[in-house]
Amino acid sequence: MNVEILKIEKLTHDVKQLKVEKPKGFTFVPGQATEVAIKKQGWEEKKRPFTFTSLPEEDYLQFVIKSYHDHDGVTDRIDRLKIGDQLILDDAWGAIQYKGKGVFIAGGAGVTPFISIFKSLKESGELAGNKLIFANKTAEDVILESWFREILGDDFLSILDKEDLEGHFHGRVDKEFLENHVDDFSQQFYVCGPEPMIKAVNQNLEELGADAEEIVFEK
Ligand SMILES: Cc1cc2nc3c(=O)[nH]c(=O)nc-3n(C[C@H](O)[C@H](O)[C@H](O)COP(=O)(O)OP(=O)(O)OC[C@H]3O[C@@H](n4cnc5c(N)ncnc54)[C@H](O)[C@@H]3O)c2cc1C
Repeated sequence: MNVEILKIEKLTHDVKQLKVEKPKGFTFVPGQATEVAIKKQGWEEKKRPFTFTSLPEEDYLQFVIKSYHDHDGVTDRIDRLKIGDQLILDDAWGAIQYKGKGVFIAGGAGVTPFISIFKSLKESGELAGNKLIFANKTAEDVILESWFREILGDDFLSILDKEDLEGHFHGRVDKEFLENHVDDFSQQFYVCGPEPMIKAVNQNLEELGADAEEIVFEK
């Protein structure tokens, strides 16, 4: 399915939000992703997974995409696209699904499945009681910080490992951090981010008696 880019907004120094056309009858569940390719010669076969950050009932689709400029990959190209350029989408698939109130732990662009899930919980009045722990390197990497603060209040915890700043915790999501900020390890845990972070967080969660849903975003 070819879809046109309708709007592009810069969210951080390396993350953009893309609003695109929604094909007729297209549907997905919050937390799901699809394979995306760029409709330009030489790029049409290079599919990469990205998560929908809009709500299924909206009349457009939206993605939040972090670009890696260290090599000539798809995300580097996506960063150069303009309104009117086209993407090629597949059907929606898998990824993370909401299974009840819990603790969401994200690293960097790993927060994207949680955006659509939180939007949908906010719409249905079920957001209260969910917590987001969002890990990044520096404050300028934090995607949609003010929106998360607004909708989650004290249940939004930002942790930075390369900066010690007011309003953010400093360090990594280690066992001590989890013990200090989570009071119930029998609730749902949702973890999404780069592989080393997921491995470390899951090991800590297991040791604390929790069982997590996870997605690995980057190796
Ligand atoms: C289910 C799922 C959903 C996802 N949803 C999102 C989303 O909503 N938003 C988002 O931003 N990301 C998302 N991702 C991650 C996204 O798919 C990757 O960032 C993307 O595939 C990278 O594509 P690329 O072509 O730019 O890099 P690739 O070429 O595919 O490279 C992937 C990784 O390897 C490294 N790498 C590879 N080759 C080189 C090289 N030659 N030199 C240096 N480094 C190299 C890159 O740094 C990068 O981290 C998701 C991933 C999954 C699995």
